[in-house]
Amino acid sequence: MKHVHWQEDLALLSRLRLFQNVAASNLERLLKEFRACDLEASEVVLSPFNRNQYLYLVLSGRLKVYLGSLDNSPVSTVEPGECAGEISFIDNDHPSAYVVASEPTTALRLHRQSLESLFQQSPQVMRNLLELLCDRVRQGNRIILDTEQNAKIDTLTGLFNRRWMEHLYQRESTRCAFNEQPLSMLMLDVDHFKAYNDCHGHLAGDYALCLVAHTLRNQLRPKDSMARYGGEEFVILLPEMASGEARAIGERLRSSLELIPSFYSPLGVLPGVTVSIGLSEMHHPDSLQGMISRADLALYQAKQDGRNRLNG
Ligand code: GH3
Ligand code: MG
Ligand code: MG
Repeated sequence: MKHVHWQEDLALLSRLRLFQNVAASNLERLLKEFRACDLEASEVVLSPFNRNQYLYLVLSGRLKVYLGSLDNSPVSTVEPGECAGEISFIDNDHPSAYVVASEPTTALRLHRQSLESLFQQSPQVMRNLLELLCDRVRQGNRIILDTEQNAKIDTLTGLFNRRWMEHLYQRESTRCAFNEQPLSMLMLDVDHFKAYNDCHGHLAGDYALCLVAHTLRNQLRPKDSMARYGGEEFVILLPEMASGEARAIGERLRSSLELIPSFYSPLGVLPGVTVSIGLSEMHHPDSLQGMISRADLALYQAKQDGRNRLNG
């Protein structure tokens, strides 16, 4: 980090959020407390390992924010006019994120020693800073929500992912066993999907997977759960349902796809797909692996018997 001489541009500064509605004469006085510095690309500005004493105000360039480790993808960007470090600047604690210059960046920085005099000189700056902090809190909440969603949702289809299905199985199998209720599982695999991709392209295949997901999910009860278990494999858990009823449901799901000869996609009209289904019912006690392997075996037989059918 290099301290540089910086030609004050009051018109520009008065447009920054921190200085919004601060009178020009006041702003000139306040700026005496700030120092300009140049940051090189990849220079770490804030790190959870170092206590932070400064508020950074980006004038040009860009900073990136990383949570947990610098190997993770950045969660946000600090653009010109925005601040970084405001939380640790105020509470004098370690920053909760890494902030790194992603390109050569010029920033104004303010030492926390100046905090008091800044607030005394301008309640408006204090108010602006509070608003910036509120933004940070809201942004943090959004990141938490997104991370939780990613942990359970398959991004292509919007269905639950395999990991979350393992979690759901624990919950549903315990609940059904406790209430002496049955639990059934359907394992579905798209037929001849490799040929579908080869013929229509991988993107068309992705749309076909979304068609399967949406068509089937809409026919299930709220207490049922459907997950994308692998590439073109889906698992449906049917709590409080024995194999007889589950067979009828599975048959209905299978035929609903058979009845879609083509569908609209952003690529144009594409042919529909069929699925083969394997069924298994929970034994007491039963592991997810046990149920999956029996459903998988039944599915294998459905494929052997000619596909587009249910077995088990
Ligand atoms: P079968 O009827 O026996 O199931 O034949 P299949 O061709 O469907 O089975 P196979 O296991 O040979 O091929 C599965 C194909 O699914 C190969 C793979 O490229 C494709 N696939 C897996 N995941 C995705 C995905 O996310 N998108 C697309 N478009 N294709 C996928
Ligand atoms: Mg498969
Ligand atoms: Mg397949």
